[in-house]
Amino acid sequence: MSLQDKIAFVTGGSRGIGRAIVLSLAQEGATVVAVARNEDKLNEVVKEAEGFSGKVVPKIVDIGESKQLSSAIEETVEKFGRLDILVNNAGITRDGLLIGMEDDQFDEVININLRSAFIAMKAAAKVMIRQRFGRIINITSISGVMGNPGQCNYSAAKAGMIGLTKSGAKELAKRGVTVNAIAPGFITTDMTENLPDKLKDTINSVIPMQRFGKPEEIASVVKFFASEASSYVTGQVLIVDGGLHM
Ligand code: NAP
Repeated sequence: MSLQDKIAFVTGGSRGIGRAIVLSLAQEGATVVAVARNEDKLNEVVKEAEGFSGKVVPKIVDIGESKQLSSAIEETVEKFGRLDILVNNAGITRDGLLIGMEDDQFDEVININLRSAFIAMKAAAKVMIRQRFGRIINITSISGVMGNPGQCNYSAAKAGMIGLTKSGAKELAKRGVTVNAIAPGFITTDMTENLPDKLKDTINSVIPMQRFGKPEEIASVVKFFASEASSYVTGQVLIVDGGLHM
């Protein structure tokens, strides 16, 4: 699955699943622009990739600011001459039950989790169409497939990402650009760390594999979608959840 000479752009590359994605693409030889707001955390990822055949280039961007995000993609193309792989990974939760959810709480999650993916895909697709090659990978969630109480905002954003993936895939397939999504189940990161232990036990009891996934177990699937191995796969949503939803 060599990604030698490929240029990748990964949002939310400083922690959790995004960090694992950045490192696994760089390990395969890609130059990876890792995007987040926390400079120190990004620099840690750059250090971890020292000695890999690829490299990590940190980029401070608030993906909630459309102009910052599209400019970051344009700057990446100016600097490296192309863009082969886009991974829309950054995401947030602002959980609450429907009847108590503030409008802003809904809008913020839609903006960060869904609108940013649209902005990044638009900027990247223009370049990828010209190149006649591209791999777009959207990190959605089983919440977007199954729904989840307390996550109307998050589930709506993640379900929206699936629509974005499929429509994008249909538009871009004839230009050599594939668009796929990965829907993780429960993965051990900062996002899930504060769940009460009792709830974690309940969740584990309904996951056939009886455990949360590791960020690296999502990164390995990203690597597949980014590589030549998936050349005839587009518009798909691959659920990676230890068997929770089947
Ligand atoms: P995480 O550990 O909370 O990390 C989130 C990442 O997104 C961080 O790198 C963060 O960096 C970045 N980010 C957040 N807001 C940003 C903004 N406004 N601008 C730029 N970067 C921003 O989350 P995770 O668990 O790795 O989740 C990664 C993706 O997987 C998300 O889309 C999430 O919805 C999805 N997912 C996670 C799980 C799970 O169980 N963990 C399950 C299903 C789906 P900074 O804070 O430095 O900006």
